[in-house]
Amino acid sequence: MDLKDHIRRVPDFPKPGILFYDISTLLAHPDAWQETVRQLEAGVAPHKPDVLAGIESRGFLVAAPLALRLNLGFVMLRKPGKLPGPTVRHSYALEYGEDAIEMQEDAVTPGQRVVVLDDLLATGGTMRAATDLLHEQGAEVPSAACLIELSFLQGRDKMNVPVHSLMSFA
Ligand code: AMP
Repeated sequence: MDLKDHIRRVPDFPKPGILFYDISTLLAHPDAWQETVRQLEAGVAPHKPDVLAGIESRGFLVAAPLALRLNLGFVMLRKPGKLPGPTVRHSYALEYGEDAIEMQEDAVTPGQRVVVLDDLLATGGTMRAATDLLHEQGAEVPSAACLIELSFLQGRDKMNVPVHSLMSFA
């Protein structure tokens, strides 16, 4: 089964000039989604995570089923202001402006092995912010994983941990 056949590419979304890689079509196909989670498990399990971290919002869809499958806990990495209680934050630069990612202060403990998951790696800014935040909390990040990698944007080069992707678009 070629998982790429289940990704819908939508031109000019969310703004003109952007080609959006839509995983809705993958999620809607039970066999393709099962195969996706199976392949993710094969890529992530060898890194022996203690916990998985998913990046809001489509990263939640990727991390949650994998956490259940590996019998691991799951931590939410969210946009600022969404999580209750004490949180920690890492800010990062965008092409224009700045963004930030947050998690709850007690979500990981120093030395825990945390694998980060998202749906797609583009420039790598989001994934790198996630690994930076986890490192700042004393976590180990043996790897990060995503469904789709836009290899022409070279996001992988921005990363400081190995990245596993299931599909690469050039
Ligand atoms: P980046 O920080 O540039 O690597 O962007 C990655 C984040 O933005 C991921 O959370 C993706 O869900 C989202 N994203 C960026 N570009 C696209 C795209 N072309 N299609 C779908 N999602 C994208």
